[in-house]
Amino acid sequence: MNQEKIIVIDFGGQYNQLVARRVREANVYCEIYSYRTDIEKIKAMNPKGIILTGGPNSCYEEGAPTCSRELFEMGVPVLGLCYGAQLMNHVLGGHVCKAPVREYGKIEVTVDKSSKLFGDVSEKTICWMSHNDYIEKQAPGFRITGYTADCPVAVAECEEKKLYAIQYHPEVLHTQEGSKMLRNFIYEVCGCEGTWKMDTFVENSIKAIREKVGDGKVLCALSGGVDSSVAAVMLAKAVGDQLTCVFVDHGLLRKNEGDEVEEVFGPNGPYNLNFIRVNAQERFYSKLKGVEEPERKRKIIGEEFIRVFEEEAKKIGAVDFLVQGTIYPDVVESGLGGESVVIKSHHNVGGLPDYVDFKEIIEPLRDLFKDEVRKAGLEMGIPEKLVFRQPFPGPGLGIRIIGEVTPEKVQIVQDADYIYREEIAKAGLDRGIGQYFAALTNMRSVGVMGDERTYDYAIALRAVNTIDFMTAEAAEIPWEVLGKVSSRIVNEVKHVNRVLYDCTGKPPATIEFE
Ligand code: GLN
Repeated sequence: MNQEKIIVIDFGGQYNQLVARRVREANVYCEIYSYRTDIEKIKAMNPKGIILTGGPNSCYEEGAPTCSRELFEMGVPVLGLCYGAQLMNHVLGGHVCKAPVREYGKIEVTVDKSSKLFGDVSEKTICWMSHNDYIEKQAPGFRITGYTADCPVAVAECEEKKLYAIQYHPEVLHTQEGSKMLRNFIYEVCGCEGTWKMDTFVENSIKAIREKVGDGKVLCALSGGVDSSVAAVMLAKAVGDQLTCVFVDHGLLRKNEGDEVEEVFGPNGPYNLNFIRVNAQERFYSKLKGVEEPERKRKIIGEEFIRVFEEEAKKIGAVDFLVQGTIYPDVVESGLGGESVVIKSHHNVGGLPDYVDFKEIIEPLRDLFKDEVRKAGLEMGIPEKLVFRQPFPGPGLGIRIIGEVTPEKVQIVQDADYIYREEIAKAGLDRGIGQYFAALTNMRSVGVMGDERTYDYAIALRAVNTIDFMTAEAAEIPWEVLGKVSSRIVNEVKHVNRVLYDCTGKPPATIEFE
């Protein structure tokens, strides 16, 4: 199939996934490849355009990530962003060096509206900069089409060869007209038609899975979260009862969640798959007894999960494929997505069962962002309730209970979280907030209830807004709603006498607590 495609070449920048997102938002399919990818492979993909990302290195230093001159001579439009812009000029004979003044943050750029990139952009436009190096002299044949007070070559281009270099980051939302600029590159320079939509993605994926699987057997570990559910439904649609889903209830799910999962995927649900629910609550609780350290809890839960899963898999026998609900941010955060730095080990990636007898892994959502996964889910007719379910970590409530996990604490956090979610929904805020949940702190403090002294736990409420879960800020929930939630929690949930609201963003905090 010859779908129009833009290739993003990864030089280790932090915003590469955003670049891909913006392209897809403009209805053009986009994939990210490492800068080490062989140029012949890139040619063979027949891209409509190539975008070079930012990156932490200095392109003029020895050993810095680079690309061949040939990349710019294929007749395919190339857009370099930040490091990519510097590298393009460096490789083509311009001069890049340390800038006398580094620029960071929102900076006004004056652009030349005669450039194809800027036809509908304001002449003075706020852009987001983050660089120490700069293009001191653009490469021969390039003209300057944008500058700032401190950066003489903020944009340079060679229209004839369709090469464009932008020093700032049009992919981040702080660049006010960044999406327009990227669109202009995609449509005015690359001449894309914009035919990629979620429905075609779903349709093509289902077709591709069907071809790949043939009459093979497929096994999927279902967590009930959005990602694994969407992946499972995609597989169910592609191969029906060749798919077996194993759902391990580890006792660290949200209130009623196990039953909700069973409703959708179980024998009374709409899909024709084999569903196995394992009630392993006790196993997990006993393994977690006395363990306080977050990474150890994650490890124990992950390992036990795999063990339970393996036991089931053994009963099923050899399968051909194993499905994982890995999505793009998992890949990036684990440092497997390309060139960016490892942030934390992720439960979805690398935590593969050793002893499951399978030949190949299928990760149908590997290139999608969370909101794209949701779109795909809706496209396939998955109930909204499930598609807009709060993101939930693999280790579940185990990492939303700070310190030792006990069945009593699980119940406390389940009940508090349930009330919180109920009130947020009642207030009509549930779709407006990126993610919200209750966590149980390990702090006990003195309170007074019914004239009696109490010494009980504090619940922390968390709510963040985020578009892509890479960065987030604390949501501003009306005081009224928070007040209602906290009074209900202390009244209805035993052993809680205090409710706190978490005001930190990501970074410096993470969205989850542990
Ligand atoms: N490392 C390069 C610089 O400091 C590029 C930075 C970037 O791509 N954000 O200028």
